[in-house]
Amino acid sequence: MASDGDKAYPPDTLGMDSAEMRRLGYAAVDAVIEHLQSKHNNPAIASCDADTLLAALGGALPEQPRAMDESFELLTHTALHHQQHGDHPRYFARVPGPSSYAAIIGEWLGVGFNSIAASWPGGAGPSAVELVVINWLCQLMGLPEDYEGVLVSGGSQASLTAIAAVRASRGPGCVYLSDQTHASLGRALRTLGFEDRHIRLLPSDPQHRLSVETVASATAKDSDKGLTPLMVIATAGSTNTGAVDLLDDLADLCKAQSLWLHIDGAYGAPAALSPRAALTLQGLRHADSLTLDPHKWLFQPYDVGCLLIRPGLLEPCFAMNPEYLKDVQASDNAVDFRNRGFELTRRSRALKLWFSFRSYGIARFREAIDYSIGLAEFAEEYLRNNPRHWEVVTPAQLGIICFALRDADAEEHERRARALSASGFACVSTTRLKERTVLRLCIINPLTTEEDIRETIDRLGA
Ligand SMILES: *Cc1c(COP(=O)(O)O)cnc(C)c1O
Repeated sequence: MASDGDKAYPPDTLGMDSAEMRRLGYAAVDAVIEHLQSKHNNPAIASCDADTLLAALGGALPEQPRAMDESFELLTHTALHHQQHGDHPRYFARVPGPSSYAAIIGEWLGVGFNSIAASWPGGAGPSAVELVVINWLCQLMGLPEDYEGVLVSGGSQASLTAIAAVRASRGPGCVYLSDQTHASLGRALRTLGFEDRHIRLLPSDPQHRLSVETVASATAKDSDKGLTPLMVIATAGSTNTGAVDLLDDLADLCKAQSLWLHIDGAYGAPAALSPRAALTLQGLRHADSLTLDPHKWLFQPYDVGCLLIRPGLLEPCFAMNPEYLKDVQASDNAVDFRNRGFELTRRSRALKLWFSFRSYGIARFREAIDYSIGLAEFAEEYLRNNPRHWEVVTPAQLGIICFALRDADAEEHERRARALSASGFACVSTTRLKERTVLRLCIINPLTTEEDIRETIDRLGA
């Protein structure tokens, strides 16, 4: 029967037979597992000039089929090799992407079934999975269970979605953020047409946090000028230093002045799962809206970001029910996710979260996050044990530590970070804090060992 069916309806739209499909599919699994197994011995980052890569991957438009095995090799060995390997245990630059295998499988299944979560009638199963995952994330963040959410491509898109919805509901007004707020927030505001006089980029305090006093004096000035304060953007784990703004104090101010509190937890919010960081992050529960980025510290492959927000704002802003979508509209508890953000056709980004949460259990996530927070503290201690060589510029906070070599200038720090990355042993970046260039490690991969940290620091200092 199966082979009859095969004859009548070939399994692949463009005609590949099932034997070939299996051969390729298993080869893909083998290539990925091979990559995951040999990470420690492979470079943390590999780059290449554009001419070389374009020559290797380009060429004439392939009007006729080319050998699939050769193309497979080119993809795995040339295209996918030359990138930052954010899942490498010694990838410490910017923010790593230590994705986990169960999440990869969840993503693959969604792609294989061409999952869609745009409307309930057109994608009930994937939409239900997304509702479940959003509820789980609300619980993990300590937010009320009636909060709504939507999964998007990343932190940038999550915050853009939040700001658009808040402005649609409350009208225009001034937004307060700090010089440590992620650059994507400023871009979101400008994209949405906020004018410069409505964007208050405030200086951070000596601990790189947005202080309540600074916000309070700015809102007072704006009110005097007849401008309307609208929203405070706080950061829970800044990308530069891991600093967490004083969320409880900012929440009090927002409540007193009826300001919206958006918290950007794209980097740090998942640290709330760790017993070690739970106290620092307990203020997350005051968020009117919260951005988090599961493709960073929740071990998901790119891409998936998440917005959690008070109920009742997303649909009025984004609902789109044109005549040709009339027969795919939700009722009851059902949700049409196309009406919660900028995307209409959207794959299910929830499958990988759902599958990995269930497969590993949240306890494993807590343990993994807690371990990295501890490992950054180990890095700090290791640096402090050699005070004639190293200066700790910002302490270990949520997996991030910034430090400097004694008597070295900006160029020297940049040169050392570049040289280590070029060697492939580890990938490290610099950042600027209050006009000073420093080295920075972002440690969120549970496969990283103390030995990896010691060796990376030693090589930077050599
Ligand atoms: C990474 C990051 C963002 C942007 O998220 P994307 O997923 O890259 O769009 C925003 N804010 C913070 C604090 C981040 O670390």
